[in-house]
Amino acid sequence: MRTQTKTAAAQGGSRPLAGKVALVTGGSRGIGEAIALRLAADGAAVALTYVSRADRAEQVVKEIERSGGRAWAVRADSGDAGEVWASVAGAVERFGRLDILVNNAGVGVLGPFEGISLEDVDRVLRTNVRAPFLAAQAAAAHLAEGGRIISIGSCMAERVAFPGGTLYATSKAALTGLTKTLAKELGPRGITANLVHPGPIDTDMNPADGDSAELQAGLTALGAYGRAEDVAATVAHLAGEGGRYITGASIAVDGGFAV
Ligand code: NDP
Repeated sequence: MRTQTKTAAAQGGSRPLAGKVALVTGGSRGIGEAIALRLAADGAAVALTYVSRADRAEQVVKEIERSGGRAWAVRADSGDAGEVWASVAGAVERFGRLDILVNNAGVGVLGPFEGISLEDVDRVLRTNVRAPFLAAQAAAAHLAEGGRIISIGSCMAERVAFPGGTLYATSKAALTGLTKTLAKELGPRGITANLVHPGPIDTDMNPADGDSAELQAGLTALGAYGRAEDVAATVAHLAGEGGRYITGASIAVDGGFAV
């Protein structure tokens, strides 16, 4: 079999995603912001959603535009099916196509199992499970061969169980089923689906100076928190030519959490 090795120039030089369009949910802060900036730096036009921080989302858009890229921010509460569908349709309308969906937006509610309220169960499952499901469904109608669906899970679902993490872990574990099944269903169309599991990453959700930060860092082989850019680098790899033959995979970016 002949191996086809594309040169960097053939892949678009240092902008391997030139001509592609990505939608990143929760792109206004933290890991999603880093993913939006990285995909834009790699040449993609980026639509990003937010729910509360319009100011931060606009900052991300401006930063991308200052670097010569194209970006658009849209408010889309992951808890609202209509807004999720509208964000996918809006990205396609704005940029004319969709190549990459990154299901990043997520919420965490931690606490003893017995005390978790029905409201919290509904809110977390709507945001962390229903929204990625609906976004993938809406995006799949637009993705062509080479399309990518990348979801952000958590090491708490696959690598290590934490007391107090039942709801969050349950929600993130559902993404494994979604990803693997999507990989099978969409594979014949040349579309990949993958899951990235971050470990402790320094963001508003899990600050590196928070109460349990020392414990979390201590559980990693590297003994340290990761940066949002570490997760973004793996997402960019999956989104690009390097991810062509990776599908149905769960990739940990966790500094060796509980190895
Ligand atoms: P942050 O809390 O820092 O950022 C969350 C982002 O998601 C924001 O952009 C926020 O928008 C958006 N968001 C939250 N709720 C909704 C909603 N209902 N609808 C739409 N957007 C929403 O989180 P992280 O960056 O840390 O986390 C990103 C992902 O990574 C999540 O799925 C999280 O579970 C996962 N993860 C994080 C880890 C960590 O250690 N940080 C570890 C493992 C997984 P807005 O700014 O408008 O509020």
